[in-house]
Amino acid sequence: MRWEASTDTQQRLAFWIPYCVLIVTWSLTMLATAYITASDQMTARLRFENQVQQSQDSIAARLETYISMLRGVTGLFAANSDIDRDQFHAYVERLDLPRHYPGIQGIGFSKRVLPSEHGALVDAMRRQGILDFRIWPEYVRPEYHAIIYLEPTDRRNRAAIGYDMFSDPVRRAAMERARDTGQPAASGRVVLVQEIDEHKQAGFLIYVPIYRDNRQPASLTEKRADLIGFAYSPFRADDLLRGIFGSQTHPRIAFQLYDGTEPSSEYLLHQSRRAPDADTYQPSFTTTTTMTVAGRTWSLVYTTQPAFEQAGSGGLAPFVLLAGTLISVVLFVVTRAQVMARTEAEAAVRARDIFLSVASHELKTPLTSLLGNAQLLLRRALADGTLPQREQRSVRVIAEQARRLNQLITTLLDHSRIQAGRFSVNRKALDLVALVHQVIDESQTSLSEHTLTLEIPDEPLIVEGDALRLEQVLQNLISNAVKYSPRGGPILVQVEPQDGWVSIHVVDRGIGIPASSLPHLFEQFYRAPNADAQHISGMGIGLYLTREIVTRHGGTIAVDSIEGQGCTFSVRLPLASPSGDLRQPTPAHVHEQTQNELA
Ligand code: ADP
Repeated sequence: MRWEASTDTQQRLAFWIPYCVLIVTWSLTMLATAYITASDQMTARLRFENQVQQSQDSIAARLETYISMLRGVTGLFAANSDIDRDQFHAYVERLDLPRHYPGIQGIGFSKRVLPSEHGALVDAMRRQGILDFRIWPEYVRPEYHAIIYLEPTDRRNRAAIGYDMFSDPVRRAAMERARDTGQPAASGRVVLVQEIDEHKQAGFLIYVPIYRDNRQPASLTEKRADLIGFAYSPFRADDLLRGIFGSQTHPRIAFQLYDGTEPSSEYLLHQSRRAPDADTYQPSFTTTTTMTVAGRTWSLVYTTQPAFEQAGSGGLAPFVLLAGTLISVVLFVVTRAQVMARTEAEAAVRARDIFLSVASHELKTPLTSLLGNAQLLLRRALADGTLPQREQRSVRVIAEQARRLNQLITTLLDHSRIQAGRFSVNRKALDLVALVHQVIDESQTSLSEHTLTLEIPDEPLIVEGDALRLEQVLQNLISNAVKYSPRGGPILVQVEPQDGWVSIHVVDRGIGIPASSLPHLFEQFYRAPNADAQHISGMGIGLYLTREIVTRHGGTIAVDSIEGQGCTFSVRLPLASPSGDLRQPTPAHVHEQTQNELA
């Protein structure tokens, strides 16, 4: 009953194994997918940040170049403050703006003019060939600033000549900052006076102050008093940034450039080229950064474009998910098939055990009666001598075969009891010497080609044991010694007490056991190959049962053999202690000892 219950539990547990495998492998798949997704995300973010940094660096580097170039222009005026239009033209021409400074609208010089100098400047400029020169807008003010040179002299730049940038508050703020700090200063967003066409770009200007005698005045008052004018550059923002980034048809990132710290549409300087399908596209990353250009803060809003995702190496996660799911399902199917196969095999083994158990029980009853009657008949025939010699031999054979059959069935029944967990030993104090004598006497009668010798002490040796089970052990070992010595020969049974233990050795000169079989000898259904080779029949249960009985007595069993020369089986049992305590069986220890002894 107990056996059935635990089998049911095992089966129920086994049923869940494939599902556990599925859950574990699929969870691992999900973990791996999540990990790969996260690391893909991280790589993509790094890539994005890298590209943002690159474009920011490009803008900063280009503007730095222009500012250096403007500083160069201030040097020109340091050498000679009366530079005329032709000299300025020649200087700028040498710079080769389209080649070395693409995207720049021009380089100019804006001169500071006091009201007393106004007329002289207009005359001078007209003398230099600009016949319609005037300072505009025209109204009286304490200080004028006039663009007197602006190269290259294209139609846009020509429109700016004479313009007083100081009259516009946005430009003026930058000019004052440049003047007062002595540093380059960029203006806020403006529409340049050069925007003479219908489509106007946003723009800005960078000013570098030029002081009298080309020195940096120390104080603010001196700076304001000594200012000659500004070297400056007007920039059309779209032209400038397209010049920096070229015309990418599939940009990976796009950006909007705003003047000021906040991205606000009225301060938009430039919107970079976006992918054609950018409106329907949801960018994976967006970031807003700021940068400082000639003392002015710009904000840049960057967003990824479809080409960004296409360029990424991503997309591994779906494959991992798919492959992991497939592997999980395959493992599930395989494990389930194995569990089912195992359950079926266990069921088959159980059916076999039940069959053996039932069959043995059913055989046992008629056989006991057969054996009893055969023995009775034999005793009677021997007593009254009525049966002729030949019939007597037949009855003896019947009795002997019935006894062997009985022993086989007992073995089978014991085996099923062990499997079912119902095998027990019933220990009582008994004299092992008497028990061995009894078994030897019984065995002697059936021996003809073997000589059985017994070496045993005279005095009793008391063990706590189950008489029937220990008898079984001795019978098993002696009948094996007989069976595996097919050509007859001596069999020695030795009993010797030692240090609280008694050892029983059964020694034969039979076929022996191959060394490779020794470690498996006590496993159920194991038979050494030489036994089969010599056609000696058997079931491979006897030694398994013997070891079970011995270990339940707190003893050990070992074997020593050389193939072809016979073998020695040694059983060690604990002698009963004087106090009468039973030694507890110690299977783990016993097994270890057995293995050691086998080795
Ligand atoms: P069975 O004898 O029915 O096959 P056992 O469990 O009694 O089963 O023995 C297991 C195996 O051990 C035997 O098949 C045989 O190969 C080997 N064996 C047992 N006793 C001896 C022995 N005295 N001599 C040689 N081989 C033996």
